[in-house]
Amino acid sequence: MEWTNTADVVVIGAGIQGTAISYYLKRRGVEKVVVLDKSTVCSGATGRCGAGIRAQWGTEMNCRLGLACVEKFEGLSQELGMDIGLNQSGYLMVAYQDKEWEQLQKNVTLQNRLGIASRVVNREEANEICPGLGAPDALGFTFHARDGHADPFLTTFAYHKRGRELGVIYHTGTTVTDIKVANGKVFGVVTDKGHIDAPVVINAAGGHSQFIASMAGVQLPLFSERHEIIITEPVDAGVCPPMLMSFSGNYYIQQRPHGSIIAGCSPAGHPQDYELGTSWQFLQQMTRTMLAVLPRTRGMRIVRQWSGLYNMSPDRQAVLGEADDVTGFFVSVGFSGHGFMFGPVTGEIIADLVVGREPEINVDMLHYRRFQLGELILEPAVV
Ligand SMILES: Cc1cc2nc3c(=O)[nH]c(=O)nc-3n(C[C@H](O)[C@H](O)[C@H](O)COP(=O)(O)OP(=O)(O)OC[C@H]3O[C@@H](n4cnc5c(N)ncnc54)[C@H](O)[C@@H]3O)c2cc1C
Repeated sequence: MEWTNTADVVVIGAGIQGTAISYYLKRRGVEKVVVLDKSTVCSGATGRCGAGIRAQWGTEMNCRLGLACVEKFEGLSQELGMDIGLNQSGYLMVAYQDKEWEQLQKNVTLQNRLGIASRVVNREEANEICPGLGAPDALGFTFHARDGHADPFLTTFAYHKRGRELGVIYHTGTTVTDIKVANGKVFGVVTDKGHIDAPVVINAAGGHSQFIASMAGVQLPLFSERHEIIITEPVDAGVCPPMLMSFSGNYYIQQRPHGSIIAGCSPAGHPQDYELGTSWQFLQQMTRTMLAVLPRTRGMRIVRQWSGLYNMSPDRQAVLGEADDVTGFFVSVGFSGHGFMFGPVTGEIIADLVVGREPEINVDMLHYRRFQLGELILEPAVV
């Protein structure tokens, strides 16, 4: 695509956030939308994630967003005209500690009040939902059948393709090196290929978003952690239909439709070096956990191990909205381990905020102002 030096909106980052935001901006009639990515589409955390989608959260804000995400994903293949690989076999939450079990039951009460049909299930039912389940030391389980996972590449590529058909301009292999701000307003970006003037710039740069924000003079208290993940060779389908997730057990495990099992956990030591390496320690910890939770994985071969960045905020929740002191500079960042599932919904919300439309879900409490005010969102349901 030929380079031009002006745009109505520049979006930095072509992961799930950037591709969705740009598509919804076009759908709202914004004329010239340019997406810049230093690498390729879906090369960041999005293409490295577990791609789980759930409405089982422990705060009202996340339950509302989570339910909206589930509903959005249910119609997304049709909306975008491409199969996004949605698989709704539910999330089975597993508690090992008394306090955690109490919290999961409280979460179900909250979720039910907000229209999410999650429920407490006993061991027998948990084994029916997940025939390969071990976890003999588990105290209790909750389940929501509409949760699941989608293919992160198919989803992002679908937004990319439909966005381009609507006129979104993509420049990949293009690094943003500076943001132009004057008199409290953004007026463009500088890249290694040249500059683009634009009255609106959106930061959707995932694990590197804090550096992009500081280019605009906006200091966000974000940092990024390296999280590893593995995938096994395929085994019989039906060993683990739902996503298994435990907060105290520190794992999420799911089976892809072709039979491979994907598993991840939060890393010991939380490496914050912006590297994307892998470690023996993770492999050992994760495979031991898998044996206890899904004994059927004994002897299975691991075919790939990789890592990606969680972009973390102080309360591990997203940071959304327009910067206070820089008009026209928007952020859609800080998603921790749940930015894939939120992408389609927050993409629409950010597009609404840019065009001055009231979003369907009010996300004022997700503004970064909350950190200065000490109004953190204490979400108990995160790995
Ligand atoms: C191992 C792992 C498992 C996960 N599991 C789940 C899950 O089950 N469910 C879920 O919802 N989420 C999950 N996540 C989190 C999820 O992947 C992220 O929150 C989400 O993908 C973030 O999307 P994004 O578009 O903001 O960022 P990214 O996908 O990282 O995209 C950001 C883009 O910005 C570009 N960029 C950065 N700096 C610049 C620059 N200076 N100039 C130009 N471009 C730049 C990068 O190249 C990148 O392509 C997981 C993450 C990891 C690592």
